[in-house]
Amino acid sequence: MKQPIRSSQTATRIAFVVIIAFVVAQVTWWLVFQRRIVHELTEATLSGWQRDAEFATLLLQHDPELARRVIAQYPHLRLEPNKVSIDAAMLEAFTARQHSRLRMLTFEGPFFVLVVIVSLLIIASSLRTERELKRRQQNFLSAITHEFKTPMSTLRLLIETALYRPMPLEKQRSYLARMERELARLEQTSEQVLASARLEQAESGPRLEAVELNTLVQGVIGRLRAGLEARGATLSVVYSPDPLWVSLDTAAFHVVMNNLLDNAVKYSPGTDKPVRVKLMRRDHLVMIHVEDEGIGVPESERHRIFEQFYRIGSEMTRASHGVGLGLYLVKTIVEAMNGWVKCEPNREAGRGTRFTVVFPERQGSAAWSTDAAPAEVQRGGYENPGH
Ligand code: ADP
Repeated sequence: MKQPIRSSQTATRIAFVVIIAFVVAQVTWWLVFQRRIVHELTEATLSGWQRDAEFATLLLQHDPELARRVIAQYPHLRLEPNKVSIDAAMLEAFTARQHSRLRMLTFEGPFFVLVVIVSLLIIASSLRTERELKRRQQNFLSAITHEFKTPMSTLRLLIETALYRPMPLEKQRSYLARMERELARLEQTSEQVLASARLEQAESGPRLEAVELNTLVQGVIGRLRAGLEARGATLSVVYSPDPLWVSLDTAAFHVVMNNLLDNAVKYSPGTDKPVRVKLMRRDHLVMIHVEDEGIGVPESERHRIFEQFYRIGSEMTRASHGVGLGLYLVKTIVEAMNGWVKCEPNREAGRGTRFTVVFPERQGSAAWSTDAAPAEVQRGGYENPGH
């Protein structure tokens, strides 16, 4: 599919160059032609006036009365004691008018070319956007087909093998575990596609309620920890010693954390996959960092990864499952909850990525009860990996 897109791009480029060259040539020719006409008109008028003056002078010598009556009809002629000449003021006004006509033409031509070029640039930019959208939709379609078909083929294969012959209990368990992983993958893909469609159709924003983030994150991590650790993650969480009151939709926040943590594990190669979550407050802002020590995101891609269906063209991204919706969901959801998200290198570890989600602190919330906080939160503490 890439080849037709590239050749249509080249054809568009050639068409634009031809149009611009044609317009420039036409306008240049039109300018030269118009200038020539103006010059010819000026010369014809001036020599006509000159002839009128000579004729009136002759007439003046033979019939002064008739000459005076004729001169009265021609405002460009002026009577002098013994001759008739061209009126200097009329001459000046006429030449000024011709010059201003020439100036107008000199501006009009290039202005027209400029308008054509700007219009072509606008068309080119909208064509580029459309092409990029098409490319991403194609990527999305092939990714989604792959994401649905691969686990289903694996499931079919596992079921067929299991049906084909009886197998020991140990083997059955291992088959079931693999099936469970494939089903989780199917679930994750459908969840992302549905969440994205819901976001696009949603008329009302998320339902925000006052929540204490340390407690909420502890609940989310509690639900996700086993799955992440089964994939090789070493998960640690640093809670804030302060209560972190924010306005959130808890279900939507779950989608955010799930995607960030899933990516942190997915894009960490090797068997050792340290993932750290940190919560803190700074100047009425509440922050959640999700850090990994994986392949990292090149600086040039840091904004683009939040676009819908965008996936970095690296080997590891191609090899890992995904449809390019996770970070788009994260950004859209976080912004709908009045926050923002950013991506930067994990400087502390010297490799990997750090995603930071920021929410404004909720003002005037009820005093946070330390009794309600998890034990680690009360210590302002560090939750050991694996606990
Ligand atoms: P998906 O993971 O389905 O491809 P996402 O929207 O979640 O889609 O991420 C977009 C792209 O950003 C990914 O394809 C990947 O290349 C890059 N990316 C996301 N998270 C990370 C991370 N933690 N480390 C390195 N690259 C990442």
